[in-house]
Amino acid sequence: MRDATVASPASGPYPALARPGRIGRLELPHRILMGSMHLGIEGDAAELDRLAAFYLERVQGCAALIITGGAAVRPEGGGDHWFCLTDPSHRDQLAQLASRVQKAGGRIALQLFHAGRYAYSIEIGTTALAPSAVECRLTRETPRAMTEDDIAQTVQAFADAARFAREAGFHAVEVMGSEGYLLNEFLSPLTNQREDRYGGDLEGRMRLSVEVVEAIRQAVSGDFPLIFRMSGADCMPGSTTWEETLTYARRLEQAGVDALNVGIGWHESQVPTVAAVVPRGGFAPVAAGIRQAVTIPVIGANRINTPELADELIALGWVDFVAPARPWLADPAFAKKALSGDRRGLNVCIACNQSCLDHVMDRPSRPASCLVNPRAGHELRWPLAKVSRSRRVAVVGGGPAGLEAARAAAERGHQVTLFEAERQLGGQLRLAARVEGKEEFWETIRYYDEWLWRLGVDVRLGTAANPQTLLEYDAVILAQGVEPAVPDLPGVDLPHVVRYTDILSGRVAAGRRIAIIGAGGIGCDVALYLMKGGRPPERVLGFLGEHGVQSLDQVPRSVTILARSRRIAATVGRTTRWVVRSELKALGVAVWTEFQCRSITPEGVVGVMQGEERLVEADQVILCAGQTPRRDLVAALEGRVPLEVVGGARDTVRLNAARAIREGFEAAQRI
Ligand code: SF4
Repeated sequence: MRDATVASPASGPYPALARPGRIGRLELPHRILMGSMHLGIEGDAAELDRLAAFYLERVQGCAALIITGGAAVRPEGGGDHWFCLTDPSHRDQLAQLASRVQKAGGRIALQLFHAGRYAYSIEIGTTALAPSAVECRLTRETPRAMTEDDIAQTVQAFADAARFAREAGFHAVEVMGSEGYLLNEFLSPLTNQREDRYGGDLEGRMRLSVEVVEAIRQAVSGDFPLIFRMSGADCMPGSTTWEETLTYARRLEQAGVDALNVGIGWHESQVPTVAAVVPRGGFAPVAAGIRQAVTIPVIGANRINTPELADELIALGWVDFVAPARPWLADPAFAKKALSGDRRGLNVCIACNQSCLDHVMDRPSRPASCLVNPRAGHELRWPLAKVSRSRRVAVVGGGPAGLEAARAAAERGHQVTLFEAERQLGGQLRLAARVEGKEEFWETIRYYDEWLWRLGVDVRLGTAANPQTLLEYDAVILAQGVEPAVPDLPGVDLPHVVRYTDILSGRVAAGRRIAIIGAGGIGCDVALYLMKGGRPPERVLGFLGEHGVQSLDQVPRSVTILARSRRIAATVGRTTRWVVRSELKALGVAVWTEFQCRSITPEGVVGVMQGEERLVEADQVILCAGQTPRRDLVAALEGRVPLEVVGGARDTVRLNAARAIREGFEAAQRI
């Protein structure tokens, strides 16, 4: 049965996306490129086949042009698990990669990269280089200011790298000049405090970028396609101005760039640039502004995650191409589905960063994959092969782990029945989707709903599976999920005490003065849900204001988070944790840390903080104090049927949607 409530509002085809285009002399069949993504396995010869499999699947998915992850032009501009173009074995691997993509009928551009002060000294074996010795908030290190000799070597390295790319069979190069890496650092007065000809006014600060482009132009013939990824907005107070950015764009065009790919923000920015709170297409106006300043094509990225949005941006003349990156992790057939109008079949990137950026930004880093597509980066290990013997598989639970287990088992050719006790699919995904900024989870539920239907999964909603029924199957995957944990506190049974599931499901109305026990990801989500949900949307306020109608602009409500430890949102990934914290602060959520709860009373929560007993007054107390696994079927099935227990039902340690979906997927591969 299909769930009409999660139907996609959009369907293809997308005529603007489907139009052929050109970057320099490079003819492209349509407008969807694959933006550069660092997978964290680059440079390791033993992983080359794995990397190639990742790219080749995206060639099959019809990427018009694949831009590789950054390849460092010099050792000090890279790091662990990066390609480095001064290493002959890395050059050899890259040449093989280009050749395999070409043979498969794809096009590939090599991204030429220098991390500048974003390099970690422990990885590059020396102090990072930068225009000036300005401490870096990302690495917590102070780089060394480059000498003119360093600069000359770097320019030469970019030129050599471009020559290599052309000779190795790449179709183009992209120079990485945004996101706060070396060339961006030279442009910005924040990090460029030089007094020589590479610093000072704009002419001096953009000199290195211009010299790099001119040197590449000299090293390769004039018609070898050259893309420059420039920063459209650094999102750093006091950095390059908008007027300077437009002048820079024009100067890059004059120097010989064939297309500008517009990046947004630095890794140190205090403005969310890739998190889910950024509205879809939120930075497209920046790219559109740059497009007005130049005559070469402009490529847009950053939160362009659906074909209908990409199509609209191109149709309206905001950008000429799109180069989404993460959406290609989420769905290796992004362009193929877009161009064939299969919007309902698309697995949409939800901008969670949990399995991609959080992995590669961690130290030590971990290989990138994808929350909604755990096969990403593992295409070689988990080929799309049908099983030789189809089995009858029961999946219990329609939350993230169960949905993926059912989808993946059916994709492999098993006959799958999914039992879900609720009348809707989604489980914890459905709760999370209600939090403003996490609405993208609806796309994930829609995707599963669609594919379970296409793959012929027998979905039984409102049906609790019993052991007798399950024993009739050849294999069972238990993905029953979790229950909210109820702490052992006096007063926990009082009528004003509720669980987070009661609030997020809408079963219980929110109070006015609220205490949340627990400061993990769920506690923070509930606080955001309550505070953001108390504010009418901007469009509504705008409409009411325009027509002179008086209304509330915020439902009066106070929320206090009670954290046992000193940190809040500790379980949230590195790239999003700071966004959550700053949103809570901006919304006026009070946070009491190192608060040891002692009891709940009709007046609120009593606890000890800094050695003193304190009362947090509340008319509603919401329990977000962890979860317990639902495993009631395990004992009845163990040893009697091939059994997999996955996700929260297995255990709740560091449980999140990424782990649940991955375990569901892997269980399906084992059957
Ligand atoms: Fe997108 Fe999240 Fe997948 Fe990263 S992990 S590609 S942000 S859905």
